[in-house]
Amino acid sequence: MKEDIRGLLPEELEERLVVMGEPAFRAKQVFQWLYKDIESFRDMRNIPKALICKLEDTFFISGLSLKAHQKSRIDSTEKFLFELRDGNQIESVLMGYKYGNTVCISSQAGCRMGCKFCASGLLGLSRNLTPGEILGQVTEVSRISGRKISNVVIMGTGEPLDNYQNISKFLRLIHEPKGMNMSMRSITISTCGLIDKLKCLAEDFPQVNVAISLHAPTDEKRSQIMPINKKFPVSQLIGECRRYVEKTGRRISFEYTLLKDFNDGNEDMQTLAKLLRGLNCHVNLIPLNQVDETGLLTSGRKRALECMEILSSKGINATVRRQLGADIDGACGQLRLKQSVE
Ligand code: SAH
Repeated sequence: MKEDIRGLLPEELEERLVVMGEPAFRAKQVFQWLYKDIESFRDMRNIPKALICKLEDTFFISGLSLKAHQKSRIDSTEKFLFELRDGNQIESVLMGYKYGNTVCISSQAGCRMGCKFCASGLLGLSRNLTPGEILGQVTEVSRISGRKISNVVIMGTGEPLDNYQNISKFLRLIHEPKGMNMSMRSITISTCGLIDKLKCLAEDFPQVNVAISLHAPTDEKRSQIMPINKKFPVSQLIGECRRYVEKTGRRISFEYTLLKDFNDGNEDMQTLAKLLRGLNCHVNLIPLNQVDETGLLTSGRKRALECMEILSSKGINATVRRQLGADIDGACGQLRLKQSVE
């Protein structure tokens, strides 16, 4: 079986090429080409024909083929549906901000966390994405859109910390100076809070930004919408977040999706403020993207702003997330879900 060449670190590529009888400097040249706008090995202009043939026999460049590409008419959001070599489909979203372009990428095909409000989990987990498939989303989105990527958020389909090994390799690949050379500080990992893996992340990649999907301030409520809370309850999760902030010296973010009449009351906000008191953090209030199948309702933007006010008055840093790409199914997992239902 052919190997995904974009999943290899420079030293791994060198090993493979030396085994093929090539000099080490060729590996450096090939590696650099991988991060330019190329579609096939034949585009690598300073590489001898014979080696190109060998590369074609051994590797493939992109495991992603574009299935659908939607551009928002109301903002600069673009959504990409990719098909993987085994037929699984994943999606990535490109969003334009004042400070640059952010791409939101998937970490798994499907998800097994089963959060009640999320479309991605409805069909369960198909499989983990490989490091090359995770990185490929960034390189392909950049190549197809022609836009330079300044930030990456791992907030698409899947639970990144449930695929820790491949996410770690992806982080090393994207940070590689001879490749994309992206700073760890430009990358955010969003997680529903797998505490054991959060500890590893703080140890291995202290510079990466972390966003915790909290969504409720008590075990009673959180367990109703996020099954993972039964394994890692709120007090343990927040305890680990406090250790994380202490260890890394970095601020942590919390995502809080507002569900009408469930977690958007004044009392919920007060409990949340108490829970986070003294923690160097930021709360991102997210108006729910309604997913038909779940029957859950959004609190609306007005209520979101009121919640923000309550948190701010209690000294908690909070903002309401802007909704981008509303006309192209901005919500997590929707495009893939629609395609697979059809
Ligand atoms: N598994 C990771 C990353 C993927 S979900 C995590 O849980 O963080 C990315 C974010 O989108 C999470 O905060 C998730 O709770 C939120 N989300 C999922 N479905 C949503 C919806 N329908 N409306 C608003 N936010 C949603």
